[in-house]
Amino acid sequence: MQFPSALETVLAMLERIRDENIHRPCASRGTLETLNRNAPHKNDINNSESFRESKIDMLASVQARVAVCTKCPHLASSRTQTVFGVGNPDAEIMFIGEAPGVDEDAQGEPFVGRAGQLLTKIIKAMGFARKDVYIANILKCRPDMPAGSFGNRAPTPLEMQTCRPYLVEQIDIIQPKVLVALGATAVEGLLGSRGTMRELRGRWHSYNGTPLMITYHPAYLLRNQAPSEKRKLWEDMLQILERLEKPISEKQRNYFL
Ligand code: SF4
Repeated sequence: MQFPSALETVLAMLERIRDENIHRPCASRGTLETLNRNAPHKNDINNSESFRESKIDMLASVQARVAVCTKCPHLASSRTQTVFGVGNPDAEIMFIGEAPGVDEDAQGEPFVGRAGQLLTKIIKAMGFARKDVYIANILKCRPDMPAGSFGNRAPTPLEMQTCRPYLVEQIDIIQPKVLVALGATAVEGLLGSRGTMRELRGRWHSYNGTPLMITYHPAYLLRNQAPSEKRKLWEDMLQILERLEKPISEKQRNYFL
């Protein structure tokens, strides 16, 4: 059995255990030995093309489960399609938003509406292309809206809790050097705790040992165009570039001053 298939089997088993509320999953020594035998040694595959291909396979396997997911029946019946995530499976930076909106639901890709276009600009200003980073949401389905109404609504805590395991799998596969949570709702979905952006943004947090920067959702900057607010988000991005030891030009340092 290939590593991605073995992992898929284990994940499916763990999901079943979780769904059935069995709190102490266990595996026999033989099972663990079989998995270890089939898992490629990390040192052998690090930075190699086969490692990247493994990640692509593993992400595709999660995406296939998401595409048919009906854990939130109201969202499964109202969505046009699921919105899994996009970008480099080996990304150093992973951006996390809250949920697809109407544009994302229509196109099947996260952050493609006005807020998404602003995020793409920010990524470019940092010196990356959109395809260099990975972009995903806590929720993979658009939060439903009453018939005939416009706009988007924030996901509920229960919806985020239900969908969160898929994001956790994405993070585990991609293993980014830095996570960026966009807005307080994404933080709540990722960390399970709620706070104000005033308390949270602009400093490093941690998600399972991965550095986590919390910053404004780009939609906030579309509503509040004050240069001082744009500068705050940009300072958060500068901290990320510093953490990744990327060169920072004078022009980049001075944005929105
Ligand atoms: S939001 Fe997530 S958990 Fe809920 S139906 Fe969609 S994919 Fe499944």
